[in-house]
Amino acid sequence: MSALRQLTNWAGNYSYQAKKLHRPSTVEQLQEIIAQAAKVRVLGSRHSFNGIADSDELITLAELPHDVTVDRLAATVSLSANMTYGQLAEALRPERVALHNLASLPHISVAGAVSSGTHGSGDTNGNLATAVSSVEMVTSSGEIVRAARGHSEFDGLVVGLGAVGAVTRLSLDVEPAYEIRQRVFEGLAWDSLFEHFDEITAYGYSVSLFTTWGPTVDQVWVKSRVTDASEHVAADLFGAVATTVETHPILGLDPINCTAQLGRNGLWSDRLPHFRVGFTPSSGEELQSEYLVPRRQGIAAIESVRALADRLRPLLQVSEIRTVAADHLWMSPQYGRDTVGIHFTWEPDQAAVERVLVDVEAALAPLEGRPHWGKVFLAGADATAPLYERQPDFVRLIQRLDSRAAFRNPWLEKHVLGA
Ligand SMILES: Cc1cc2nc3c(=O)[nH]c(=O)nc-3n(C[C@H](O)[C@H](O)[C@H](O)COP(=O)(O)OP(=O)(O)OC[C@H]3O[C@@H](n4cnc5c(N)ncnc54)[C@H](O)[C@@H]3O)c2cc1C
Repeated sequence: MSALRQLTNWAGNYSYQAKKLHRPSTVEQLQEIIAQAAKVRVLGSRHSFNGIADSDELITLAELPHDVTVDRLAATVSLSANMTYGQLAEALRPERVALHNLASLPHISVAGAVSSGTHGSGDTNGNLATAVSSVEMVTSSGEIVRAARGHSEFDGLVVGLGAVGAVTRLSLDVEPAYEIRQRVFEGLAWDSLFEHFDEITAYGYSVSLFTTWGPTVDQVWVKSRVTDASEHVAADLFGAVATTVETHPILGLDPINCTAQLGRNGLWSDRLPHFRVGFTPSSGEELQSEYLVPRRQGIAAIESVRALADRLRPLLQVSEIRTVAADHLWMSPQYGRDTVGIHFTWEPDQAAVERVLVDVEAALAPLEGRPHWGKVFLAGADATAPLYERQPDFVRLIQRLDSRAAFRNPWLEKHVLGA
């Protein structure tokens, strides 16, 4: 255990208030630490942009041994939950199996990503938590709890927001390894997007639209499975032109940080994220926010945000629009609805971002925009709770598993539980 001096999140916009950082090297030590702590949380890779992971005492699981076991019959991989997706992908490479999707970066921990409902893109792809088939965690009494898909509370445990227990192991669904090719198209007219929205988001296995809300959508990133029937060799996508050089989603930044484009085949894990392991993801100097609206409201939401373009632009590095499939995980931003995500990579000015988010949230609240739990947002529990049908069940679940409220923190009280 060590005293904590100025530990911040990845973006540096949040300084953890915790006084202690525990580093257990066995699950038994973890059980003991949790049972004795009044207020405690597990830190993942610290990529969230808010106080979601904070507490009086923090635990890193970095000293727990990494262990990855593929069960071919069950088509799952069981892993130490603190591993990053990059580490997991390396372990899966010789096993020739793959996950269904990844976020924009492989640097994040699996447990942290799953706990916050992190997602990639693709009309038929659920968020990363939907791959979880079983979970093992230490609850606040120090007990080990295991649950598998089908268990009555499983859907509440997976996107647990760090509030149900310390996740030590996860099993994820796997499939035979596959290849992806990635192409980027530039200058999609807004009218073309609105007219062909469903065709464009279905144009590849995973599609991302990048824009600074100017005259066009600047870039459309299309990631296609190489086995897909449709081969995306077209020179244009509804008027957007295929690039002939590698690009970065933030115009002007070095594409060396990005995964290979120009239609070159590559392993799933080398193409699904936008950013490469070992390189700076995104711009590195930024804040992020994201709102997830029902797909049927997607175009209205894009139009509403576009109407704020002049207000957004001075603070904005880039926006990304993605689609995610519906799921049944109680606190997932995709619970019960196919989703369109509207993301903002901001300049790193927290106060200015919060000012502009007042307008963004006012525009997206009537369209049932759910904020990404791991990014900067303002909405309190009074606004988020009505958006989550199973929120009362989640509250009951954490009251049962954490009756002494050890995992509760100010972020959870403000944004999820309320008074
Ligand atoms: C550059 C960048 C790009 C991003 N791209 C995407 C993207 O493409 N899609 C997207 O949806 N999000 C994206 N995010 C957001 C990011 O995926 C989430 O914030 C995610 O939670 C980060 O995981 P982490 O391990 O850093 O979690 P942390 O920030 O460390 O923790 C998040 C939560 O998980 C809990 N937690 C972590 N580990 C455990 C554990 N073992 N047991 C129990 N609880 C645990 C913490 O207590 C906390 O509540 C991005 C963030 C950055 C910085």
